[in-house]
Amino acid sequence: MPRTEAPVGAQEWVPPQPQSIDELKSAAAGCEGCELHVNATQTVFGRGAPHAKIVFVGEQPGDVEDQKGLPFVGPAGRLLREAVDDAGIDPADVYITNAVKHFRFELRGSRRIHQSPGPAHITACRPWLVAEFSLLQPQLVVLLGATAGKALIGPSFRVTQQRGKLMPWPASAQHPQDFPVADIQALATIHPSAVLRADDRDAAYRGLVDDLKIARAALSA
Ligand code: SF4
Repeated sequence: MPRTEAPVGAQEWVPPQPQSIDELKSAAAGCEGCELHVNATQTVFGRGAPHAKIVFVGEQPGDVEDQKGLPFVGPAGRLLREAVDDAGIDPADVYITNAVKHFRFELRGSRRIHQSPGPAHITACRPWLVAEFSLLQPQLVVLLGATAGKALIGPSFRVTQQRGKLMPWPASAQHPQDFPVADIQALATIHPSAVLRADDRDAAYRGLVDDLKIARAALSA
């Protein structure tokens, strides 16, 4: 039965002491922590290196990701992988996920039009992100775009003002107590889909790569 009440949150679906990302992913497949699971095709969990030094956090899966069940496999994902390469980041150091793990959209005719997740969805889904961070214990978190930034840093976050700057993490988080990781760093940049939409795509891409170079330089060997 679809839920119609306020989101209960993902916490009750998160295993108490998960041993691996695969275990989290299996559990998240059955999550009903908010209503987004009703219309989406499937949960789209994070993926990447089990000992990733960098965790990229985007907004939510898109239409292609929803159908394939994998994050960042559409055009924005391809662009992000190119930018990671051009910034000199080893793909073996990377894990990619989203703040919200089901696709939110509205139907216009037969087309599914992306809708940004709301604060309630972000809060409901946060336990999965916290569990991913806790298992991975990365050196750096890269926030992709305004929604991911607001989800983690708070509503005052402005990607245009705060991009490309290393911040202490979890001290910069809106709810630092939610993130039981050693003191690490975070960096915000634009979402790769913003590069695809930009009037000057080359300049936007260079800006993304420049930000990721700062991320790469912050990593220890
Ligand atoms: S969006 Fe997150 S909290 Fe909501 S049902 Fe999906 S996995 Fe659960």
